[in-house]
Amino acid sequence: MSDDKAGILYLVATPIGNLGDISARALATLRQVSAVVCEDTRVTAKLLQHYDIKQLTLSFHHHSSEAVSGALIVRLKAGESLAYVSDAGTPGIADPGGKLVAAAANAGVRVIPIPGPSAVTTALSVAGLPTQRYLFLGFPPHKKGRQTFFKEVAFCPYAVVFYESTHRITKTLTGLAKLIPLRQLVVGRELTKHFETIYRGTSGAVLEQLVHTSTKGEFVIIVAPSK
Ligand code: SAM
Repeated sequence: MSDDKAGILYLVATPIGNLGDISARALATLRQVSAVVCEDTRVTAKLLQHYDIKQLTLSFHHHSSEAVSGALIVRLKAGESLAYVSDAGTPGIADPGGKLVAAAANAGVRVIPIPGPSAVTTALSVAGLPTQRYLFLGFPPHKKGRQTFFKEVAFCPYAVVFYESTHRITKTLTGLAKLIPLRQLVVGRELTKHFETIYRGTSGAVLEQLVHTSTKGEFVIIVAPSK
């Protein structure tokens, strides 16, 4: 049951690169709330400035203490409505949004999603692989659990989608080339941005194309299902 006197926590999806990819409802919500809670206030400041939205910004990130979420819940319970935005895309998908939603839901605060872009769905839409079913795994672990992660990728009967950073893309594709050399992959780099590139082929072929273009940027990897 939600508390009728409390405000609302809106989870607002924002662009993953191209600032034009924001909905009218998202902009209206960002304008209407008492404050915008951000994963990084400096990142969100650029978006707010672009749309001439003058708003109070508050911070909530992976390392925020319970005292920080507690203070946000106090505001909500007192009747203020807040919007939460992550650095890019849909809050709650591999970012701190989920922690705030859990705290709000436990406190009986109504949570409303304002849907929009996400790197997962953007990459899946152009994959052209069998994606009626897919498994999303977030980021691969750096050390502990890394082997188990890639075994799950190799044997999954569904397409597997995961994120990778510029620092580890080469290492990850090299590992996949050893483990599943013949499997088809789609890799989306810098989706919706100036250097957007979609690579298709085996891990080895994608790696070669990447090295010839650039390994800089943000990446989504989609691995075709295991037969
Ligand atoms: N919540 C976000 C979403 O809905 O997409 C994802 C947050 S996660 C912390 C950030 C990761 O998403 C990046 O490291 C990258 O792997 C992926 N990503 C975000 N924007 C991207 C883009 N424009 N192109 C490719 N990958 C992107």
